[in-house]
Amino acid sequence: MAASVDSVETGRLPAPRPGPVPWVAMYHSVGDCSDDPYRITVTPERLARQLAWLRRRGLRGVSVAELLAARARGEGRRLVGLTFDDGYTDFLTGALPLLRRFGCGATLFVLPGRLGGDNAWDPLGPRKPLLTADGVRRAAAEGVEIGSHGLTHVDLTRADDATLTAEVAESRARLAELTGSPVDGFCYPYGTVDARAVEAVRKAGYGYACAIDPGPLTGPHALPRAHVGQNDTAWRLHLKLRLHRLRRRPVEGV
Ligand SMILES: [Zn+2]
Repeated sequence: MAASVDSVETGRLPAPRPGPVPWVAMYHSVGDCSDDPYRITVTPERLARQLAWLRRRGLRGVSVAELLAARARGEGRRLVGLTFDDGYTDFLTGALPLLRRFGCGATLFVLPGRLGGDNAWDPLGPRKPLLTADGVRRAAAEGVEIGSHGLTHVDLTRADDATLTAEVAESRARLAELTGSPVDGFCYPYGTVDARAVEAVRKAGYGYACAIDPGPLTGPHALPRAHVGQNDTAWRLHLKLRLHRLRRRPVEGV
């Protein structure tokens, strides 16, 4: 086997065999979901039931950074990534108390170009306030991993070169300054991704990036995620997890 010959020649241990692509759940807003045209909101009661379901199955939600670090050590088979996109203020009031109660970590992908603003990029539906710089710092102080969702929520596959670089690299620099820690994770707005966007994210120094359904681009800089919404009861979550394990082939490096 080539891998073992390499390891003899280099004196290094062979890399652990890749497991199935890790399961990463995608949330956005946690609050009242009576007016929710994009189906991005779960109520705190639903989130609590979903976290309880994970616990019953012996699984635990963690940040994507923690998930990938565990897998790099050959561990983490019982960990699930929990991600919250856009950085809504209801993360602090709706999600964080439940994450704490269930002993879970999470990654929050924020938009440093829209701090204290709202979801102005959505043409329809209610305006939802976004965390201020102080709110992002409060989440970070509670142990939440802060990642970048770009500066302003632009579809990177349609962005020109200058915009692409600004959205990816400048957002990382601004968040590092805001939180005082390096920023390892990126999340593609709308989940749209192509090879050029992946390359820009990799070049900007991110260790990983989350997409939704990146197909052949799947890898550390294009991780698939499962949308988890208000309709996801225990039974539907069970199906989603089963389907994920069937459909996602092992990929090197994740
Ligand atoms: Zn988003």
